[in-house]
Amino acid sequence: MPTLNLTFPNGGKSTVNTDLFINNKWVPALDGKTFATINPTTGKEIGQVAEASAKDIDVAVKAARAAYETSWGEKVPGFERGKLLLKLAEIVEANLEELANIESLDNGKAVAIAKAFDASEVAACLRYYAGWADKNQGKTIEVNDTKFTYTRHEPIGVCGQIIPWNFPLLMFAWKIAPALATGNVVVLKTAEQTPLSAYKMCEFIAQAGIPPGVVNVVSGFGPVAGAAIAKHMDIDKVAFTGSTLVGRNIMKNAAETNLKKVTLELGGKSPNIIFKDADLEVAAKWAAFGIMFNMGQCCCAGSRVYVEEEIYDQFMEVLEKVCKSLPKGDPFQASTFLGPQISQLQQDRIMAYIDSGKKDGAKVRIGGSKGSGDGYFVEPTIFTDVNPDSKIAREEIFGPVVVCSKFKDEADLLRIANDSMYGLAAAVFSRDVSRAIGTAHKLNAGTVWVNCYNQLNSQVPFGGYKASGIGRELGEYALTNYTNVKAVHVNLTIPCPL
Ligand code: NAD
Repeated sequence: MPTLNLTFPNGGKSTVNTDLFINNKWVPALDGKTFATINPTTGKEIGQVAEASAKDIDVAVKAARAAYETSWGEKVPGFERGKLLLKLAEIVEANLEELANIESLDNGKAVAIAKAFDASEVAACLRYYAGWADKNQGKTIEVNDTKFTYTRHEPIGVCGQIIPWNFPLLMFAWKIAPALATGNVVVLKTAEQTPLSAYKMCEFIAQAGIPPGVVNVVSGFGPVAGAAIAKHMDIDKVAFTGSTLVGRNIMKNAAETNLKKVTLELGGKSPNIIFKDADLEVAAKWAAFGIMFNMGQCCCAGSRVYVEEEIYDQFMEVLEKVCKSLPKGDPFQASTFLGPQISQLQQDRIMAYIDSGKKDGAKVRIGGSKGSGDGYFVEPTIFTDVNPDSKIAREEIFGPVVVCSKFKDEADLLRIANDSMYGLAAAVFSRDVSRAIGTAHKLNAGTVWVNCYNQLNSQVPFGGYKASGIGRELGEYALTNYTNVKAVHVNLTIPCPL
């Protein structure tokens, strides 16, 4: 069983298994292939992990199906499934530091944030859905007294789950927790950039006593292993988080095979609106947090900032000051807020966007260049005087790059804020509660924050309008994405029509 022995820059140590996790066992890819996972802070290889092919997906699906029929699904009462999820949450809580270290090494995010936010929210999410495991009830439906009619909320079955690299641990939890709570089994593919923390979670899954085959995790590439999940005839549902382009592809593959159910959590170009009556200092700090958190690699990043014209100059000064002050560099330094981008490819993509913004005539207020060193750093970048039809104003950059513009009045603002193919998130800053809430209700977005940004909780649904996705994750709403509703009609006195 190949393992990576990791020593982290902060002195911590860990071992991570690097084979595929199928049936609670570590197995090599059938054709023996492996690929490198890279440390984005140094550009150096951390180690090799198994590279799954369609054949491995098939093995994982068979394991999942067998588990569904014998040791999970409706074979295990919700209360018992909940207990196992709680046990897993306890193990995660006892190992927050190790998980955070792995996440930070493989992804480049600041280790302090990986511990306080990513790993901690994994435990919170598992606890939250553990609570739902025995409360996913149907309804009795009054029709008339000739029959008794009720619904059952049944698990869907085998769920394929494909996750991205920006929040590897958290996306793992957001995917498996509601699926398991509702009695489904899982074949999950990690992003090729960040396979390690999910493999650590697999160790904990086995330790928690979750039966073999309930959670199967594979590392591999999207067009091969990911596509095999989307196309598989014995997968009943696929849940995906990542780019809109790949989301479309997954839907197409699902449509062309067994019409498996599809939920998608895709990109965004979220507007962040600052009215002139907002607390400027506070709003500028939230705006910086809204775009720079996770180095801008958030699907809900506040990448379009609109400021009412009377306060624009003053606001921009504070925003600039806050963005320049964010500690950046080695993610293992306790004070670091900004680490590297995930990969060379992502750094190149972001720099191409920055170049296109410059060519289109936008002004670089700060940043606009790569950071120094071997890692994939990009300087926090603020663009102003942006043509609203340019690429940087319309496309998801997925980096620490924000475009800032003025607006005149509310009507003008709503038109430009809603003029996007995306609709994932938005924010409004105002001290006037009627204006803030009135605007929140008129924005075409699945989440609107008022006087804050990037606030996510397991209890609250998250997902997109328009091309930002289909379905909701988190909260009670996610349960509907993992259940089939069965209506049962029981005859009391209906005479047969024949
Ligand atoms: P991606 O969509 O290609 O990758 C996300 C996941 O999908 C990975 O696990 C990948 O292996 C898998 N995948 C890729 N091609 C697939 C296919 N044909 N079939 C099935 N699965 C497939 O994202 P990326 O290339 O890593 O990043 C590209 C852009 O996507 C980013 O610049 C960003 O704009 C966006 N993105 C969004 C999110 C999000 O949370 N919404 C996350 C990551 C990336």
